[in-house]
Amino acid sequence: MAGVREPRGVLVLGGGFAGASVARELGSRGATIVSPENYMLYTPMLPEAASGTLEPRHVVVPLRAMCPHADLVLGRAVAHDEAERRIQVRTEDELFWLTYDQLVVTVGAVSRTLPIPGLAEHGLGFKDLADAIELRNHVLRRLEAANAAGTEAHRRRELTFVFVGAGYAGVEALAELSDLVRDALRYYPRLRHEPQHWVLVDAAPKILPEIPTRLGEYAAKELERREVDIRVSTTLEELTGQTARLSDGETLLTHTLVWTAGVRPSPAVEIFDLPTDERGRIVVEPTLRVEGRERIWALGDCARVPNEATPDHPDPPTCQHALRQARRLAKNLKGDPKPYRYRMLGQVATLGRGKGIADVLGLHLRGFPGWWVTRTYHLYQLPLFTRKLRVVVDWTVALFFRRDIVELGMLGRPKGLRD
Ligand SMILES: Cc1cc2nc3c(=O)[nH]c(=O)nc-3n(C[C@H](O)[C@H](O)[C@H](O)COP(=O)(O)OP(=O)(O)OC[C@H]3O[C@@H](n4cnc5c(N)ncnc54)[C@H](O)[C@@H]3O)c2cc1C
Repeated sequence: MAGVREPRGVLVLGGGFAGASVARELGSRGATIVSPENYMLYTPMLPEAASGTLEPRHVVVPLRAMCPHADLVLGRAVAHDEAERRIQVRTEDELFWLTYDQLVVTVGAVSRTLPIPGLAEHGLGFKDLADAIELRNHVLRRLEAANAAGTEAHRRRELTFVFVGAGYAGVEALAELSDLVRDALRYYPRLRHEPQHWVLVDAAPKILPEIPTRLGEYAAKELERREVDIRVSTTLEELTGQTARLSDGETLLTHTLVWTAGVRPSPAVEIFDLPTDERGRIVVEPTLRVEGRERIWALGDCARVPNEATPDHPDPPTCQHALRQARRLAKNLKGDPKPYRYRMLGQVATLGRGKGIADVLGLHLRGFPGWWVTRTYHLYQLPLFTRKLRVVVDWTVALFFRRDIVELGMLGRPKGLRD
């Protein structure tokens, strides 16, 4: 029989952007966070963690340091008993119930995949820190394989990198990783003059559809200048360990396909038995209270959040919205709930070293100014002074020294005491 425990303060499920921000904003009012990780991932810096510009540990923030007034339970919510107002939690070695007075659901989203033959077996994801580390190791392994390849076709396959999904995550990851490969090739004299093939595929008619057209056009031109092969209005049809077949009829020889084509609400949403929309997002009222529920609230990527400032469409799944929702919710939990309202101040993205785009308060910046504003904005938003400092040190080191190209894929697979 699983035990029943009483958590401190508001019970927050998920320690991502939304959950950690709610707990932090609640301050001494107190909260208990249930999260499978003891850190919050600052996802906008994930592409730089993948390329090695930033040390992976520096793009995550320890929850205990970020939310000093909150309790942390390292585990997952696995069941909900609404009548008894309790959540069942599975930790590494225990299963127990946590009761709640106020429940906040922020279980986020997962990659939205499609039933494309071979995708689940051979595609690489780009959603969390493990994905970023694996992608970096995978790309460096491709360079070693290309260096050892005995035939032209084999070399071409190893040096072809396909990204499916031309939103922020896909474009930024491609740009950062192509910088990594360009820098790493200094150490591979045999490959220095070999052509690389970077391919960006999207079903939509243009890349970065979320940003103003002029900036999107600049981003496309900048990628083309770097010889990225952009295939819009194109879909992936089949993937094997050696090839990617596209809807334009071409079959690319490749060992690398990164899937960044959108997100869907976490499957954990299903355990709560709450009202959801056609996309599976939890439906909330303007105060962020779940529709028809007195004591349950939801926000972030797992929820459909109406915004008074944009009455025609709910919030998109971004950090800046999750953060503003969290601020509103913390106030609402402290008393006198008011509707959530947030007008987006702008959007920013990097396009590799020294290049970026920023749309801030109607001002369109591109190239170096866009890159500088993007970095400055993210540095400002990253919680904790010590994290900011570590990131600045990483960026400074990257300015003056060559990129590190060690491949540490074996780190996750220790040999232990085996021979
Ligand atoms: C590669 C990438 C780049 C991005 N770049 C940007 C950007 O530049 N700008 C921007 O605004 N947005 C960006 N985003 C989007 C942004 O990361 C999300 O909108 C934001 O993280 C949403 O916050 P969240 O708390 O809802 O979800 P998440 O941050 O995903 O957190 C959800 C948390 O819930 C936990 N969880 C899941 N199931 C359970 C369970 N059963 N029990 C307990 N906990 C659970 C997860 O482990 C996770 O920690 C990016 C996303 C990605 C993937």
